[in-house]
Amino acid sequence: MSNINYDYIQNYVNQLIPKSEGILAELEGYAKENHVPIITPDVAAFLSILIKSTNAKKILEIGTAIGYSAILMGRAAGDNFKITTIEKNQEMIDLASKNIKAAGYDNNINILSGDASEILQSIDDNYDMIFIDAAKGQYMDFLRLSFDKLKIGGLFICDNVLFRGMVAERSLLIRRKITIVKRLKRFLSYISNHEAMDTVVIPMGDGVSISMKKKEAVIDD
Ligand code: SAH
Ligand code: MG
Repeated sequence: MSNINYDYIQNYVNQLIPKSEGILAELEGYAKENHVPIITPDVAAFLSILIKSTNAKKILEIGTAIGYSAILMGRAAGDNFKITTIEKNQEMIDLASKNIKAAGYDNNINILSGDASEILQSIDDNYDMIFIDAAKGQYMDFLRLSFDKLKIGGLFICDNVLFRGMVAERSLLIRRKITIVKRLKRFLSYISNHEAMDTVVIPMGDGVSISMKKKEAVIDD
């Protein structure tokens, strides 16, 4: 299946997770039908727990798509949250705006339109958490451009870091993904060994990395 975990483990764990309701359930249906790669249910549950347990209220997201993860994170964050989410695909932005409005979050969730590596340079703000779920070849750039916008103690979380197992196992690697996989491996090694953060990579969904910022640092890779 995802090549990240045994199917029997994945299936067992997933069936334990209560089904979503309301708009989140609707968006899951839409994503499935239209092949939009939203976060998987285990990652969704995990993100919710991280947000609640760290009391994150101000969140930066890269990769909005239809707004599913932004709405999910908003639900977890409770009252008075602010999410800034960056998306470059106009069709997705239109869908996300509509969905965010339907969720009643148009005052809390702000979509910034454009390529994140450009948009990030114009953001001067400080966040409790940063969630990256966009072009995997650019994760290093996203880290470099956003680390100073994360508070000390805040979490920097990335989705899809194991990329269908290709990052860990050569025989799974498809030729046209070689560059992305190389970049992801370099990125994972970098965040795992940098003195300014503590990192763990979890084989959940398509692979999730979590780094806790310990101090200010220039990301110089
Ligand atoms: N986080 C969403 C899914 C995001 S899918 C969810 O779980 O609900 C990845 C999205 O990232 C796509 O919509 C794609 O258009 C966007 N994206 C990819 N690279 C980007 C970049 N460099 N800047 C902004 N958006 C990007
Ligand atoms: Mg993802």
